Amino acid sequence: MPIGEFSERSGLSAKRLRSYAAAGLLVPAAVDSSSGYRYYGPGQLRDAQLIDALRAAGVPLVDIFSLLRDPSTERLEEWAELIDIDASQRQDALRAARRLIDAGHDVPSAIETREQTMPVLTAAARTDIGRVRENNEDVALCLDHVVAVADGMGGHAGGEVAAALAIALIDAAFTGQSVDELVAGVRAANRAIAERAHTAGLEGMGTTICAAGAVAGGLVAVVNVGDSRAYLLRDGELRQLTDDHSLTAELVRRGELTEAEAAEHPHRNVLTRALGVGTTVDVDSALYEVRPGDRLLLCTDGLFNELAADEIAAVLDSTPDAAAVADALVDRAVAHGGHDNVTAVVADIRR
Ligand code: MN
Repeated sequence: MPIGEFSERSGLSAKRLRSYAAAGLLVPAAVDSSSGYRYYGPGQLRDAQLIDALRAAGVPLVDIFSLLRDPSTERLEEWAELIDIDASQRQDALRAARRLIDAGHDVPSAIETREQTMPVLTAAARTDIGRVRENNEDVALCLDHVVAVADGMGGHAGGEVAAALAIALIDAAFTGQSVDELVAGVRAANRAIAERAHTAGLEGMGTTICAAGAVAGGLVAVVNVGDSRAYLLRDGELRQLTDDHSLTAELVRRGELTEAEAAEHPHRNVLTRALGVGTTVDVDSALYEVRPGDRLLLCTDGLFNELAADEIAAVLDSTPDAAAVADALVDRAVAHGGHDNVTAVVADIRR
């Protein structure tokens, strides 16, 4: 049935249905390829209402994914208990706050001390379809505690769905506690994409992911799968933080190919790792100490395949304005050929 009728029967607005589709929770049964019009099956009514009820109960996206895959009322009882625990912890915290206010204002705040060591990012993102591709399957995330890029692949809407799903799950998983949260987000995204990669219209979809998040202690956690990269610019020096998981990059690391040969290699797009391909995924992760003035760049291969490292470094070092730098990098990559979608996220360490 068309989205309008489905919306009426499920009681959920079209806007909400679109957001569930974008998050990969409830993918339309069919999408008209010419009009883009979405169609849902009657069997999806229950899922739609279930997702909505769980969202209203505050259940995280990641857990909704796993419940839809493996429905059980036991999980609901676990969440009911968690809500009770959460409520009583919040009541305790409020009582503690009341005692602190009553005791006066010279008590040092634990939250303040922790926040002082938590890096804060000023980030800007720019993406461009390029000159050759018909769709832009790159997706970026640009917040003050976490940034990411995903380069989707697959026919029809698949690449975009996979990349959007990866970004949504990174956003949902990362609170700034640890690098493990980012790794967990990447694994959850892998499972969610792999499960949906059999849906009509989404066959064979997958995506790269590269994400960087601020962690207490003046650290930035970096994770990646595939050939999207993270770089760090410090004192004018550019350093690549991630290893590409591509055939040519593996050959370079083994000494069987030079960097120059790899850059021209006809199979340089072939990935050795991606999200959505298998039930499990090997995730690279690392922590880096950062300081104010450091600048991070996260980008898809559409950028570094068009621009040499010294040009990337020169543009990154050209102005303090992160948004101007993201624009300049993407504009240059498109001007150099724009053979692929191009995405750059520039993030300055503000604190
Ligand atoms: Mn690409």
